[in-house]
Amino acid sequence: MTTPITLVVASTNRGKLAELRELLADLPVTVVPAAELLGDAMPHVEETGATFEENATLKARAIADACVHLTLADDSGLEVDALEGRPGVRSARFAHARATDAENNAALLSALADIDEAHRTARFRCVLALVDPWAAEGAEPLFADGRCEGSIALEPRGSGGFGYDPLFVLAGSGRTMAELGDAEKNDVSHRARAIAALVPRLRALLARRAGEAGPSGG
Ligand code: IMP
Repeated sequence: MTTPITLVVASTNRGKLAELRELLADLPVTVVPAAELLGDAMPHVEETGATFEENATLKARAIADACVHLTLADDSGLEVDALEGRPGVRSARFAHARATDAENNAALLSALADIDEAHRTARFRCVLALVDPWAAEGAEPLFADGRCEGSIALEPRGSGGFGYDPLFVLAGSGRTMAELGDAEKNDVSHRARAIAALVPRLRALLARRAGEAGPSGG
């Protein structure tokens, strides 16, 4: 039997961890939250990147350096076409640095006040970065990208989810993310799609590793 490899995950969000464990269930990895492993040594990472890839990489590299395990981090947000992709990496801080979800939603509605329904297209994006601390120096992380297309409603609807969910109308459904059940959202979410894209690449990386370790493992 293959010995599972520790996969350290930057997130402390229980929902995200549960979703990840479920989707990686048939891979030989043990998912461990970074905070659990590092405690007070957990690095604080400023999300100063200009792209989701850069921010996910900053988080994954800082944690991989600290714990020397295979490390996965994500960055996600909302891209609105009429705003040339904003709020993007600033999704959590669109209204101001310490904005609440309600403030960000109000800021988004006011930024789109003059935009008609046909031109309010948007997408949630999630980028995962997997950093292998044993990879050759200068090696890029392994990335996986998940997208969920939709548009921005004229006013908030629904009570589920978080963030921009009450304003995000899922393409083809007519409902906002906040009007979907958790299971329905997880089926179509940018996060689930990014994890699904990661699985075959992670499987290949693990197989390579097992091959390099030879028949006796290691
Ligand atoms: P993070 O990458 O989880 O920190 O997400 C950054 C920000 O993007 C969040 O604070 C939300 O404003 C927004 N966001 C990301 N994913 C979702 C989602 O599934 N629903 C609603 N908002 C989201």
